[in-house]
Amino acid sequence: MSANKSIGCTVNQCKHHDGSENYCTLTQINVSTHESNPTQIECTDCASFEKKSCCCSH
Ligand code: SF4
Repeated sequence: MSANKSIGCTVNQCKHHDGSENYCTLTQINVSTHESNPTQIECTDCASFEKKSCCCSH
């Protein structure tokens, strides 16, 4: 896997994160929302997020 410079991401807790650079390693991601009427950045989510299998206990 290598960094996809077209998808910047700072979510280091995701298993698809590059780790050393702030990029996603997937070739394509899906973005979604958990709001019925999203109005701010906080309303959107990366639907391709997957928690790293190691380390995080919460
Ligand atoms: S899948 Fe989403 S959250 Fe995970 S590294 Fe890629 S862009 Fe970031």
